[in-house]
Amino acid sequence: MATAARTTQICRNFINGQWVESRSGKTMERRNPANLDEVVAVVPLSTREEVREAIAAAKAAFPAWRDTPTPVRGKIIGKAAALLTEQKEEVARILTHEEGKIYKESLVEVQRAINIVEFMAGEGRRLGGQTLPSEMPNTFAYTIKQPLGVVGAITPWNFPVAIPFWKAAPALVTGNTMVMKPAEITPLTALKMAEIFAQAGLPPGVLNIVLGAGEDVGDELVQHPDVHAISFTGSNEVGGIIYAAGARKMKKCQCEMGGKNPLVILSDADLKLAVESAASGAFGSSGQRCTATSRVVVEEKIADQFVSMLVARAKEFTTGDGFDENVAVGPLVDENQIETVMRYLEIGKREAKLLLGGGRVTGGMHDRGLFISPTIFDHVKWDSTIAQEEIFGPVLSVIRVPDFEEALRVANSVKYGLSSSIYTNDSAKIHAFIDRIESGMTHVNSGTVWSEAHLPFGGMKGTGIGLREMGSIAVDFYTELKSVYIDYGARKQ
Ligand code: NAP
Repeated sequence: MATAARTTQICRNFINGQWVESRSGKTMERRNPANLDEVVAVVPLSTREEVREAIAAAKAAFPAWRDTPTPVRGKIIGKAAALLTEQKEEVARILTHEEGKIYKESLVEVQRAINIVEFMAGEGRRLGGQTLPSEMPNTFAYTIKQPLGVVGAITPWNFPVAIPFWKAAPALVTGNTMVMKPAEITPLTALKMAEIFAQAGLPPGVLNIVLGAGEDVGDELVQHPDVHAISFTGSNEVGGIIYAAGARKMKKCQCEMGGKNPLVILSDADLKLAVESAASGAFGSSGQRCTATSRVVVEEKIADQFVSMLVARAKEFTTGDGFDENVAVGPLVDENQIETVMRYLEIGKREAKLLLGGGRVTGGMHDRGLFISPTIFDHVKWDSTIAQEEIFGPVLSVIRVPDFEEALRVANSVKYGLSSSIYTNDSAKIHAFIDRIESGMTHVNSGTVWSEAHLPFGGMKGTGIGLREMGSIAVDFYTELKSVYIDYGARKQ
């Protein structure tokens, strides 16, 4: 069994290649959500002045980094991927200790980060524009991609390894410098990323991490005139604030936000597979995934059978410390998250039929941590609160529908549009679903959570605004396109 390093880390900011103690004098304690007696980190609540110092360092580092040949930048990013691979288990242990997800899932998250960084390293040799014909004689016309300058990244706690890496790697390989504000409750994984990039040879000032509260550190990044773009992942509430503030400053903003992902099961589906995907999609990572399966939309004629199989499978999801190999569901990340999920559970009990779970897990080690029992509601109405709002906990709503058309309508009936899935072997319905489902990513006969580094990641409707992340398209957010016309001389004076 993997174990965590049981020491409390005193966190410092990473500015201009140095580990710098915050001058704010204010700190918060981050506790292990599986055991609140354990202080994992003491985190500074940095000041706006400290953010400005990081921005100044990033600004000073920009010209030299911009002028570094792109393949050389790619090589440094590639070295970071190799170092992350070497340190995979250590980073996964930090992740489980800090955020709570089970160690097996932490390894998967770190591997995802490795895949993304490896892919982005390759962009160092691929980054290019287009050669186009010109209307003019003897004219060479083409486009080039150029970095923006200093960019800001604001990240959430739920994928505190993958998301910082998936923002930093495309930003840096394209020649930008970055100031990042990770979620204050998951600082260690972001600091580890800074350490890895420094070990890989990233020059001082190119990547800076400032720890602290969103309203101060995050807002300063959004407001500061020297930050040319903000890449944000988090809640819709905060995304709305950032997008509006960014628009007022004419800043490029990319906001990836919540999800309410449907898994549609038609009557010809392989129910065993569908049950497995529904359960792991809903309860994996304690339901704290933007791509979590939060709604099952099932055809009425197989609903009873599906539900009884689902409940039986869900009962096998043991809750506990993520370092215990027998555990499938770790704790929720903090007390705020517990409070939010408990509120939705009470709403759910009024709106639908509770089949399983519905509250905190108590007794033994559970009393020291933040555990919610995997929960299933049946006969959920498509327009009820628990079917419409992102809960972000191990809670699954089963919505029964008469046929495919109604399934599609219900699946599309939320403001979000991140991921989706359908289980059927009917090829006409598969293609109709792909064409008409309103989500940035969709799956056929596989769950809602899977994604690969070289494919774009992100949502439509209320989930995402701005360009997609991951895949080759990720570099487009971090670059400006310049059109070039060269008259190569044959024209008469
Ligand atoms: P959050 O509360 O919106 O926080 C995200 C980040 O924004 C944190 O670093 C936070 O700082 C910062 N922040 C808060 N207020 C701010 C402000 N006024 N100005 C600037 N920054 C501010 O989200 P979360 O609870 O960490 O993450 C969960 C959410 O992320 C869920 O909705 C989930 O679906 C979404 N998510 C989406 C994707 C995707 O790709 N679509 C991926 C993962 C997660 P603090 O440290 O102070 O909290």
